[in-house]
Amino acid sequence: MLYLKNGTYINWQTLEFTKSDIWVEEGIDGEIFFTAPTNLPKNIQTIDCEGLYITRALANAHHHIYSALSRGMPQPAISPQNFHETLQYVWWQLDYALDEQMIRSSALVTALAAAKTGCSFIIDHHSSPAYTLGSLDIIANALDEAGLGHLLAYEITDRNGPKKAIESLEETRNYLKNRQGLVGLHASFTVGDETLKEALKIAQDFNTGVHAHLAEDLFDQEHCISKYGKRAVQRYADMGFLDLNANILVHGIHLDELERKLLNSSKTYLAVNYDSNLNNRVGIFNGNGIEQNIMLGTDGMHSDMFKSAQTAWFTGINHESLNPQIVYNRLRAVHNYLKQNNFKGDGENNLMILDYDTPTPINEGNFLGHFFYGMSSGHVRHLISQGKLILKDREHALLNEEEVLAKSKEQAKRLWKKL
Ligand SMILES: [Zn+2]
Repeated sequence: MLYLKNGTYINWQTLEFTKSDIWVEEGIDGEIFFTAPTNLPKNIQTIDCEGLYITRALANAHHHIYSALSRGMPQPAISPQNFHETLQYVWWQLDYALDEQMIRSSALVTALAAAKTGCSFIIDHHSSPAYTLGSLDIIANALDEAGLGHLLAYEITDRNGPKKAIESLEETRNYLKNRQGLVGLHASFTVGDETLKEALKIAQDFNTGVHAHLAEDLFDQEHCISKYGKRAVQRYADMGFLDLNANILVHGIHLDELERKLLNSSKTYLAVNYDSNLNNRVGIFNGNGIEQNIMLGTDGMHSDMFKSAQTAWFTGINHESLNPQIVYNRLRAVHNYLKQNNFKGDGENNLMILDYDTPTPINEGNFLGHFFYGMSSGHVRHLISQGKLILKDREHALLNEEEVLAKSKEQAKRLWKKL
């Protein structure tokens, strides 16, 4: 058990401030207590939180751990002219070059980056077509070692031919036999009807949802209309995907009114990634008509959910009617998604402890002003995941950071050589 002494707790839902000691139960989905529980265990670790703020740790609703070694990589030989070419010349080259060691390094450096930025749970969408079978276990084991919660999915697609499509279905089925996870789909435009039906069957068999890109670029819709005579959400709806409980559709930038209605009447969540959308110049999200089920992710751009939320705010206000509470709710909606669908590892005993030395008063009434205009991931001093202190004074308590980073540089060099 952890004992947090003299801190100020900020309730992540009501934003209420409470100056109190906190006892944190260890274990998956454990509790926190504001008065000492009876039968205190003997081994209690105390953290002095005087002057520090304690609140629920963050969670990332859409990540691509597989892209972690891309930072600073050489430019592609042919310069992409549109989004589809960016996929073809950059990301589909990179994912195909990944092997076991590279995948493991990608997961460890992402775990490190997430912990340092206050994030204790990652929902990931993975692709490594030349090393598919067993790839999700490599990531899950690395995140377990790093103390982070996770909900993984392998990207099922037909773009690499039928043999690889079958492998991606097999990897999904194998993984879901032993672990919580989702059925990953790349996007409508690279998944044919047969593969889609197989994927749906897996989701039904394991009572889980799909995790798929949706209308990130207009191309996804144009392709769907020309090939199937309908828009992408309609295609998913007609197949029965929207009847699943735990779906995450990602981006949803180019949606018409009917698609918004279809999503709104399902339990599907949308995960939005403004940094990535700005970078890819694919358009800007607008949440009209789908207000309650919107979450935020990073789409492999980085692992910093403070940054993701702030970009969501500053970009979003130029495109739809927003206030800070709406954007904060989107940041926190991931906790509701995980709880509603009974996924484990994102409990109240996941906490970030902020060393936030503000020049102006901070309280329940103006917390969001501080959150969007003052706070950053640099203020994260400690991170508690599943009741365990995994980041202490900005250093990872479970991983050897130097070793992880030295190894990832080696793996990045190997990867870049293959591109
Ligand atoms: Zn993505």
